[in-house]
Amino acid sequence: MAVPEPLVIETMVVRHLRLALRVPFVTAGGAQVQRDVIIVEAHGPGGEPVGYGEAPVLSEPTYNEETVATAWHVLNDFFVPRVLAARLDHPRAVHRRLARFHGHAMAKAAIEGAVWDLWARLAGLPLSRLLGGPAQRVSAGAVVGLTEDTASLLRRVEAQLARGYRRIKLKIVPGRDVALVQAVRETFGPVALAVDANAAYRLEDLPALQRLDDFGLQMIEQPLPWDDLLGHARVQAQLTTPVCLDESVQTVAHARQALELGSGRMFNLKAGRLGGLTAALAIHELCRARDVPVWCGGLLETGIGRAHNVALAALPGFALPGDLAPPGEYLVEDVVEPALVLDEEGFIPVPQGPGIGVAVRRDRLEACTVRQQVHRA
Ligand code: MG
Repeated sequence: MAVPEPLVIETMVVRHLRLALRVPFVTAGGAQVQRDVIIVEAHGPGGEPVGYGEAPVLSEPTYNEETVATAWHVLNDFFVPRVLAARLDHPRAVHRRLARFHGHAMAKAAIEGAVWDLWARLAGLPLSRLLGGPAQRVSAGAVVGLTEDTASLLRRVEAQLARGYRRIKLKIVPGRDVALVQAVRETFGPVALAVDANAAYRLEDLPALQRLDDFGLQMIEQPLPWDDLLGHARVQAQLTTPVCLDESVQTVAHARQALELGSGRMFNLKAGRLGGLTAALAIHELCRARDVPVWCGGLLETGIGRAHNVALAALPGFALPGDLAPPGEYLVEDVVEPALVLDEEGFIPVPQGPGIGVAVRRDRLEACTVRQQVHRA
C-alpha cells in the first residue's frame, strides 16, 4: 500500500463508546463505573485500511471544558465536514484545516489522530516512526489516587512498585500532601516519586508546597489553576522541585509563554489536551531545543488512545516515565489486540506494526458503541 497524493478521505465514522471500568472512577460529582469516549474512524481508499483516533473526553467538564456531548457535537457538525473529502498532503493538514475553530482540543485530536493512524498504515510505517520516534519501548509510571487512609495508599504503592512501574505519582490536595509523601518515602525509600495536584492549590498554599521540597520529588505537577502561568512562575521561583505543567498548557503558545515566564521546568504532553499530535510535536521540538524534559500523560484511554500515546512517547525528548499503564489495568475489556503490556522492567513495548500497531477488534467496537454517525463525501 502507499499513501495517495493527495489523500482524500471519503468515509469517516464518529462513535460514542461505553466501556466498563474495573474500579469506579471517583470525581467530585460521584463515582463513574463506566468510561465513555469518542472514537473517530478515517477510512482509506476503497474502505481499507481504517485509521482510528480517540477523544479522551470525560463525562463532565472537570479536566477541561469538553465532555462526551460537546465532542459528539463539534465532530459531527463542524470538524468531520471540514476534513471529509479535503485534499490532504499530510496529517498536519488536518491541524491547519481545524485551526479556524476555537478550543475543543480532544475532539480535534480524535480526528487528527485518525488521519495520522490511517497515513501510517497506508505508508506501512509504525506511527512512532512517522512521528520521528526511535524508541522500541517506553518507560511507564503508575498513578496512585487519593485513598481512604494512608495504609491503603501504601498497599497500592507497594503493588505498583512490585509490577515494575518506574515512577509512582501520588494525587494530592491541600491537607493531604506532606504526610502522604513522607509515609511513602519512609516506607519505600528513594523510589522515583512525583505528585500531581490537578490545580487544587492557591498561591497562599505555597508553604505546604515548599515542605514537599524536602522529599526529592521528580516533580510537583499542576499545583495552581490552569489559567495561572504567572502564579506558577512565582511558585517555581520558590521551589527547588521542578514544577510540571499539565492543564495549563493547552496550546503551543501556552508552552512558549510558560517557558518565557519560568512557569515550570517540564511539561506533561497529552495530544488530547493539545488538539492533536501536530501541536504535541511542536511543543516537543520547542522543549528539546531548550533541554526541557517532557513526558506523556494519560486520560484513561482505550487501547486506541493509549497506543497513540505510546507512539508519541517514543520521541527522544520524552525523558521521564509516562502515565502509560496498559488499559487492561482499568478497563474490563479493551477494543484492541494484542493488548499493550508492561514488561518486567516497567516499559511498554512500542507496537511495530503499521499505524498505531494494534488491531481494532471490530466485534468489540460494535458491542461498545452507544451511537454512531457515518459521514460520506
Ligand atoms: Mg496531571
